[in-house]
Amino acid sequence: MKKVLKKPQAPQPHAALDESAERLRFFTERKDAITETIRQLVEIESPSDNKAAVDELGALLAGRFEKIGGHAKFHRAQNFGDHLQVDFPGARNSKPVLLLGHFDTVYPMGTLSAMPCRTGDGRLWGPGALDMKSGVALLLHALEGLRAWHGDTVPRPVTVLLVTDEEVGSESSRRITESLARKSEAVLVLEPSYGIQGALKTARKGVGEYTIRVTGKAAHSGLDFDKGENAIVEMAKQITAISKLVDRKRGLTLNVGVISGGTRTNVIPALATASLDVRVARMKDATAIDRQLRTLKPFNRKCKLEIIGAVNRPPMERSAGGATLYKKAWEIAKGLGWKLEEASVGGGSDGNFTASLGIPTLDGLGGVGEGAHATHESIIISELPRRAALLAQLIERA
Ligand SMILES: [Zn+2]
Repeated sequence: MKKVLKKPQAPQPHAALDESAERLRFFTERKDAITETIRQLVEIESPSDNKAAVDELGALLAGRFEKIGGHAKFHRAQNFGDHLQVDFPGARNSKPVLLLGHFDTVYPMGTLSAMPCRTGDGRLWGPGALDMKSGVALLLHALEGLRAWHGDTVPRPVTVLLVTDEEVGSESSRRITESLARKSEAVLVLEPSYGIQGALKTARKGVGEYTIRVTGKAAHSGLDFDKGENAIVEMAKQITAISKLVDRKRGLTLNVGVISGGTRTNVIPALATASLDVRVARMKDATAIDRQLRTLKPFNRKCKLEIIGAVNRPPMERSAGGATLYKKAWEIAKGLGWKLEEASVGGGSDGNFTASLGIPTLDGLGGVGEGAHATHESIIISELPRRAALLAQLIERA
């Protein structure tokens, strides 16, 4: 008699796992649609400094959100595109979760002709594909999924804020971001994920920008050498002093990125300027470095020194609230069969504003790819379904 091996009873799958698989399948079936949305967004160029172009994209986005039941409104901006807010009332009565992003890019108008949107090698390439038009597309499709699963409504109130000046410092949108964050339970930021492994961002450095101006005294370099006060020489000494303020251990860096000065070789230069980027991991370092820069003294007492600027994005320090959100995301990802990592990064985003208000903030929920702000900017298409599933489930559980 043939021995019949009884198949072991399959373990009853956990309800949450079942749900996760269901969510993932939903977005896997819609992978092409998500990719198509990204293409559509990339093909409307939207440089931060071109209001008309950005507004055109804003109008398209508002239409897409209204189609899935959102109430869209614009916060008018004079020098930038209008910032787009979309509210979804939600079935449950609770504070909204704020989904935060931007739809401006760093690429000047016309970049598309040299860097067209294309797919190949499993990727979608194009200006802003990663930073962060894929994030905007994921957000749209995640909300669409939530409505499909919850009887044409989202399970909880959701506010979407997409600003238009993030790539140039968010001066015009900061107050809107902060006021919506204060009313929210949590903030999920759709900026690109970190690295090719797609880690979330639980800490970001704060960012400052300063300009130093040295005024010396012009004179003929041959006839009146001793009567001149060389602003460039003074600036060179200042730059050396500034470089010594870098403290890698504390995550404090200063980068003099632009210098200018002088007029001709035979004129002792009366003017020199330098602009620098400052990154701080901790708020108290922001205050300290600001003071150090402001109290720089001229080496040549006959030169005048002016320092303007500030730390305009406070650091997003890893917080308990952010860590709890990350843990939720980690568990959701686990249910999707994926080990989700976290990272602390040097770049700032609007998440820095909301986190420093004490609102739990999780960043890096957007696309996975490479080359933000560069000619090889691209996203990995196969990552889209699980990113959308992660976002949708985070909205359900945040
Ligand atoms: Zn961005």
